Amino acid sequence: MMNIVVDAYGRRFKTLRVSLLNKCNFNCTYCTEGEGQVKETSTGITAEDLLQRIAHLHQHLQLETVRLTGGEPTLYHQLVEVIAGIQSIGIKTISITTNGFLLEKLAAPMKDAGLQNINVSLDAMNEDLFFAMSKRNNVQRIINGILAAQKAGLHVKINAVIMKGINESQILPLVDFAFANNITIRFLEVMAMGHLHHQPQQYFYSQEALLQTIASKYSFTKIDRNGGATANYWQTTDGHTFGIIANESAPFCSDCNRLRLDSNGHIFGCLSSNHPIKINNWNNHQEVTEKLQEALLQKQPIKFTGSSLSMLQIGG
Ligand code: SF4
Repeated sequence: MMNIVVDAYGRRFKTLRVSLLNKCNFNCTYCTEGEGQVKETSTGITAEDLLQRIAHLHQHLQLETVRLTGGEPTLYHQLVEVIAGIQSIGIKTISITTNGFLLEKLAAPMKDAGLQNINVSLDAMNEDLFFAMSKRNNVQRIINGILAAQKAGLHVKINAVIMKGINESQILPLVDFAFANNITIRFLEVMAMGHLHHQPQQYFYSQEALLQTIASKYSFTKIDRNGGATANYWQTTDGHTFGIIANESAPFCSDCNRLRLDSNGHIFGCLSSNHPIKINNWNNHQEVTEKLQEALLQKQPIKFTGSSLSMLQIGG
């Protein structure tokens, strides 16, 4: 089926981010303000319905990648079955973003089911600062999960959100850990989402400040950006790579190819949009095409403008 869903900027949906559930076992400061979880507001759709919707979207869009998110996707009971189901649909790349707390146990079964790439969120190496960021203890458990994922043959990246006044002292320890284990680490500028929707500035640690901090220990050069990528990358003189996802300093909307499916089975064309689009009849080709075009029109032309939804609800 020809993918006719394209906007005035030539953008098409090629990556589907699927929020499996809006539940998490962490309380990250930049997400739920560390005050306990947003009560699960939806029971979500069944794994069977979810896979049918992914298959419909693939038929329309010839998707290249599916990234599983949450809340925390490893809390989704049928996670391994869903990964195997996506592989049988024939989508080339299957990825996941996780906080790593349950990773040591799940890495091998997810790999066997067809998972290829995994981004693990790790915002500090120091136990106290790990707690300050996630309201959980036991940073070693995440480190063990990362090493288990590498051992299982998954392609691992680390994501670290840096919040000014909280964990910027962890930038170099995180880089040292990543480089020592040959892992690409990406630092994220704080996003104006959820409770930070109207006041991200107080925690904002810019791409420029991140580069200055890393330059205090490492020499590096910039690598050309891949189309549709959210991160910019640099390579050090000894061949290690790090990235920065700078939604504020270096926005990446111009060639954005991401579509989101939330745990209620609704679609979002853009993270800046708080308006879920409901498809009533997924078997109605005309309706699905129209709703996908409506979703594409939600996209920002230049940069992310904020969202009242938290990562917990839409998976970032
Ligand atoms: S704000 Fe919207 S258009 Fe921009 S990168 Fe994010 S999802 Fe894409």
